[in-house]
Amino acid sequence: ATDIPLLQVQGVTAGYGAAPVLHGIDLTIPAGTITAVLGANGAGKTTLLRALSGLVPPTSGRIMLAGEEIGGTPVERLVRRGMAHVPEGRGVVTELTVEENLRLGGLWRRDRADAKRALDEVYQLFEPLARRRRANGHQLSGGERQMLALGRALVARPKLLLLDEPSLGLAPRVTGQIMALLRDLRDRSGLTVLLVEQNVRSALSVADTGVVLSLGRVVVTADAARLHDDEDLRHAYLGF
Ligand code: ATP
Repeated sequence: ATDIPLLQVQGVTAGYGAAPVLHGIDLTIPAGTITAVLGANGAGKTTLLRALSGLVPPTSGRIMLAGEEIGGTPVERLVRRGMAHVPEGRGVVTELTVEENLRLGGLWRRDRADAKRALDEVYQLFEPLARRRRANGHQLSGGERQMLALGRALVARPKLLLLDEPSLGLAPRVTGQIMALLRDLRDRSGLTVLLVEQNVRSALSVADTGVVLSLGRVVVTADAARLHDDEDLRHAYLGF
């Protein structure tokens, strides 16, 4: 049924070794929405994305993608099922060229013709990448690396994009372009995004829903515009 949320997280506990970082996270993410995941340093935002993409396996709880449990699913199967994770620090392979990095994004795709189409679309979206397709990753600026990481994820044609701090180190204008692109992908292709951001204002400007984590727990889930405009909520949960 179409009313099954794209992502359901139930009671997820996860961490690195003995002490959990996440303590019983519950989340429901409808398809075609953007959710901003906010919270102070160390709140567990990055760990949440890692738990969802299987990098930090949960010690308890359930994660369901389109109604099917995905705990323990190998990463290439998660990609095939529509999940893409753009990690903090971006994960561009600096020894490879722009084009080789983008091809990595299509590695698991069976539809080779569409993988090629998706690659061309990324070059249209990110003009600087098209100009520098033979440049090595280490020759790119921070903004270009961010575009490349995002572009590589898009070549996989994800349904669910997990995006960790895309604005980190970028000029406000570039951040604005990335936010506008996410909004566009949501509106045109129904992309679902989980967006971890320190830049609270720009995240809430593009998101439908805001989720605030504190010490590994969800402390509030609210309409993004309300979280942004309601002074009491802002003071209580976002500290500004
Ligand atoms: P930030 O914005 O600083 O990245 P965050 O909300 O994303 O913060 P996490 O990176 O998920 O928070 O970190 C949550 C907790 O987990 C922190 O206490 C951190 O020290 C710890 N942690 C993160 N990564 C590791 C790791 N690889 N090994 C051990 N502990 C870790």
